[in-house]
Amino acid sequence: MSETKSYKSYFQSALDNVREEGRYRVFQDIRRKRGAFPKATWYSDPTHEREITVWCSNDYLGMGQNECVIEAVKSAVDAAGTGSGGTRNISGTTHYHVQLERELADLHAKDRALIFTSGFVANEATLGVMRKILPDLVIFSDEMNHASMISGIQRSRCEKVIFKHNDLSDLEEKLKLYPHDRPKLIAFESVYSMDADIAPIEEICDLADKYSALTYIDEVHAVGMYGPRGGGVCEARGLMDRVDIIQGTLAKAFGMIGGYVAADDVIIDAVRSIAAGFIFTTSIPPSTAAGALRSVKILKISQEIRDQHKERANALKARFRDAGFPFIDGDTHIVPLMVGDPVKCKAISDRLISEFGIYAQPINFPTVPRGTERLRFTPSPFHSDVMMDELMAALNVVWDEFALKRQKVA
Ligand SMILES: *Cc1c(COP(=O)(O)O)cnc(C)c1O
Repeated sequence: MSETKSYKSYFQSALDNVREEGRYRVFQDIRRKRGAFPKATWYSDPTHEREITVWCSNDYLGMGQNECVIEAVKSAVDAAGTGSGGTRNISGTTHYHVQLERELADLHAKDRALIFTSGFVANEATLGVMRKILPDLVIFSDEMNHASMISGIQRSRCEKVIFKHNDLSDLEEKLKLYPHDRPKLIAFESVYSMDADIAPIEEICDLADKYSALTYIDEVHAVGMYGPRGGGVCEARGLMDRVDIIQGTLAKAFGMIGGYVAADDVIIDAVRSIAAGFIFTTSIPPSTAAGALRSVKILKISQEIRDQHKERANALKARFRDAGFPFIDGDTHIVPLMVGDPVKCKAISDRLISEFGIYAQPINFPTVPRGTERLRFTPSPFHSDVMMDELMAALNVVWDEFALKRQKVA
């Protein structure tokens, strides 16, 4: 016991480091309100609560509160109970999983799809087995790739080459250095959620053809949201057949939990048969698969909600522009407001929630580079003009209070 105690100082000093770097995380305790998205109750301490407007949810389209999705989840619980009861191989492949995989394959116009516990696990497990399949593989990875892809690539122990973010000439320079017949894979995202920009997918696929590389795209922030059926940016740009492996999540626009990859039959069959992160874990609950299935089906035929979403994102950007706030004016639904200081970023967020009932999470290092700390706003179709009025009034107060700069308004 005393030995254990002496270890504690190491844990403490690890924490001290995190604190000193200004990246100690405090979770906000909230309860979402069904039917009132994006409103929630915030528990500032065990005895105090207040109503807030959530401005930083990844439930981008409010599908986590969609009545039809809720109904699908409830009736699956009624029909099949709670857990799946096993790994996919040992009694955990329920009819709900089979249907959902078919639906996801269809969404991305691929032969087959494979569900994982989360989008993180989908990336980690799929990229993680690549060397077992292609022993000499080199993976070319965008420098802004998500932690889950980085983890998968590390796990694979493949040779890794990092290219500059969305930089085609840097990518080509690096591809050129390897023999044409050496197996290669280019791993990148469509929508990068912290900078709100989109990859030049077609040009990356052209390079992949030229240098004979496989392509792997993370469409986590795009599935359900872009493309006429919500198939992501690849669908919107008519590129689904040019990307070999499409990875997505059920947890953001689809409002549930779980992740997946979609690809050719043989690719999925190999990942299914070899990836430890797929094999040795219990499958998602049938009700989760049922809810996700309903959500995917709804969003396939809901172009109007995507249009509304775009309109709301543009409305928020217009307000930020008029106020001279330094935001990243990207081509996506995400609106990062740059603060550039970890302590102020956290303090502003604290003021917004405690004083104004507005919840925008500070995004600090290591999620974004130091000096680029920001508040990341994700307006949804349900963020009304009144909510935007309230947000702007609050931001104007705190922005001046913290003496932050404004850009000249054109
Ligand atoms: C959120 C995220 C993931 C992980 O997806 P989860 O389903 O939340 O585990 C993967 N890639 C990117 C780019 C993400 O933002």
